Amino acid sequence: MALGSSCQDIPESETSDYESSIASNELENFQLTKSIVGPSVKAAVSPTSGVHELLECPVCTNSMYPPIHQCPNGHTLCSNCKLRVHNHCPTCRHELGNIRCLALEKVAESLELPCRHQNLGCPDIFPYYSKLKHEHQCRFRPYNCPYAGSECLVTGDIPMLVTHLKNDHKVDMHDGCTFNHRYVKSNPQEVENATWMLTVFNCFGQHFCLHFEAFLLGMAPVYMAFLRFMGEDDEAKNYCYSLEVGGYGRKLIWQGVPRSIRDSHRKVRDSYDGLVIHRNMALFFSGGNRQELKLRVTGRIWKEQ
Ligand SMILES: [Zn+2]
Ligand SMILES: [Zn+2]
Ligand SMILES: [Zn+2]
Ligand SMILES: [Zn+2]
Repeated sequence: MALGSSCQDIPESETSDYESSIASNELENFQLTKSIVGPSVKAAVSPTSGVHELLECPVCTNSMYPPIHQCPNGHTLCSNCKLRVHNHCPTCRHELGNIRCLALEKVAESLELPCRHQNLGCPDIFPYYSKLKHEHQCRFRPYNCPYAGSECLVTGDIPMLVTHLKNDHKVDMHDGCTFNHRYVKSNPQEVENATWMLTVFNCFGQHFCLHFEAFLLGMAPVYMAFLRFMGEDDEAKNYCYSLEVGGYGRKLIWQGVPRSIRDSHRKVRDSYDGLVIHRNMALFFSGGNRQELKLRVTGRIWKEQ
């Protein structure tokens, strides 16, 4: 099996912090508004939608958060837009000054709204000012495509991303929790452009991404293999994996915990949280005359009790 195509090493966008999965539990305790819970969600929300429109910045259409500004004629705008409009109201051109719209800020405080990822399954309802914070950490927020090496902007839930990896990135899919992979590359001298490969494993009813890639660690060319879990970090910690590579009587073994795909590929790689094989060692394992990389990586995924 050949290594995947060489690609420019484009960093994935940083979308999440390691701490992000904790907060949604804390926030679950917020009191739910009785009128919004229940089958007629849309109908119950609509009386507040007029207020919600008032809280939309007329300039950028984003939701406004304190400080909310207004001109002497009462036109509102968000603090980001206020910085951009050179002290003149975008609606009436009057000089803006520095007037807060405290009434609207207070009204916003009284609102409770469903999480914007409601359609992805989030059942939570939040006070207006906590909603944004929750949405950044919501466990129902879409995941970024875990495929590395391309600037793929696709986001979605796990089933959708599995289909996307298979159909659009032509990623190899395997069932089972043990694997035995051969990575062959004819010109192992070139690692300047990251060479990488992704395989997806389906076991325990979950999906795992096995990444294999070449890059420069400082001045030293290395190969690295690591596993990412397609799901949240707190679930990822229920699993372990091991990787082994060797030949000619030598063997390297790595045991680790898969990282959530909330952590970008780059972040995992740069923390060396995986099996790192220096090129000289890799060529030694490959045997022959150092003209070809032939690595056999075996691995196993298991569930921690
Ligand atoms: Zn604005
Ligand atoms: Zn105005
Ligand atoms: Zn949510
Ligand atoms: Zn993609």
